[in-house]
Amino acid sequence: MIVMKFGGTSVEDATAIRRLVSIVRQQLQRQPIVVVSAMARVTNGLLDCARWAAEGKDADVQAKLDEVKARHSAAADELALPEERETLHAALRTQLAELTGTLDEIQRGGIVTEALSDSVSAQGELLSSLLVAAAFRADGISSERIDVRPLMRTNDDFMRAAIDFEVADPLLHETFTAQVNAGCVPVTQGFIGSTVDGRTTTIGRGGSDYSASIIGAAVNATAIEIWTDVDGMMTTDPRIVPEAAKIKTISFAEASELAYFGAKVLHPSTLRPAMVKDIPVYICNSRRPHVQGTAILSHAPASKSPIKAIAFKRGITVVNVDSVRMLMAHGFLARLFEVFNRHETAVDMVATSEVSVSMTLDDTRHLDAIIADLQEFGEVTVERDRAIICLVGEQMKFTPGLASRIFTPLNQINISMISHGASAINASFVIESALVDEAVKRLHKEFFSELDEETFEKVDV
Ligand code: ASP
Ligand code: MG
Repeated sequence: MIVMKFGGTSVEDATAIRRLVSIVRQQLQRQPIVVVSAMARVTNGLLDCARWAAEGKDADVQAKLDEVKARHSAAADELALPEERETLHAALRTQLAELTGTLDEIQRGGIVTEALSDSVSAQGELLSSLLVAAAFRADGISSERIDVRPLMRTNDDFMRAAIDFEVADPLLHETFTAQVNAGCVPVTQGFIGSTVDGRTTTIGRGGSDYSASIIGAAVNATAIEIWTDVDGMMTTDPRIVPEAAKIKTISFAEASELAYFGAKVLHPSTLRPAMVKDIPVYICNSRRPHVQGTAILSHAPASKSPIKAIAFKRGITVVNVDSVRMLMAHGFLARLFEVFNRHETAVDMVATSEVSVSMTLDDTRHLDAIIADLQEFGEVTVERDRAIICLVGEQMKFTPGLASRIFTPLNQINISMISHGASAINASFVIESALVDEAVKRLHKEFFSELDEETFEKVDV
């Protein structure tokens, strides 16, 4: 069995869905389970509707609903068999009626609770999966659309629900294995689940990748394929460095670092379930299915390049605490980090000296309260508009002289924090946001002017 997950652009209209069908058709002997996202832009549109409904902007809600309806209904006309067309339209109508019902409830209450928000945003996947299953049947492939919600059990932390694996794994396993063994291609939804009492939840924006990996692990799939609209993971963002190359093979550990550092191809949690079961994850381009994408493996072949990719995250805030009575005092750091814990804020990078601690934050919602609490530890200063640059590569630890290769090209660029974790697969540092492009260009030139063709490939566009 394999899991094939198709993102929003890969199901955005009838043409994209036909492409999806022909991609899956070539893999039928591998017993695919298909997981889909909502059509491109639909989740955002639905969330807009929820907000507008609460604000009483009925005309805006109606206009967006009409658009969503029209897109699905046009695709249904193009994709479904003539004899199935009416049933498919009826199924879409039922789904849309559920959506309208929830929007009415939001409008009456004047507020979008997180639970209602999930009931609304889940409709995108529920709609698109109807179309995809119908498209398979129209192409002579036995297929059934499975509502994943009763299987994908979560807690009730709406909008970011956590999976209850003990319940979900056996249910997913049983249902999908039975479908596949019956010669059927099941089509199901990413992103959504439900609570023990049957209320719809979502697992966080972009979560369909994660769903695919959870399902893949539950059925012991031999591969998890993430079909998207790029060729794979890249050495860096091609918008900054047009010569950026595709990475052919990368390890779970390296890819996790990149996903976390905002390489948008993968939801950061995706690799966890796959790693536990050692299932390879492939990133493939549904517009260019002949192109070999990126393979994410537990052990990627050793590369001649010490660095696999340069990632970065802008909009970082650095908080410094200077204190003379600090580091030697035991328990100091524990108490300091307790402040962040109390304000539910994650710290990404930490650097310490005898008299100071510097930390980077991504989420500054509680910054004022954090600063107030930190003042009891020493003098607090804040640097805004910073960025973390992160170099990732397993071969780093075997490469002497790497620090000078990293920092020499960056002369004249002020570097404020450096961290090189014990795992030695990531070297990160902080600079001003405005200097990111320049720094990334220089580093890319240093490390990727000559490509190790075993690991990287030039992208021909
Ligand atoms: N449709 C959801 C979103 O836009 C989930 C996903 O596409 O992964 O966030
Ligand atoms: Mg996505």
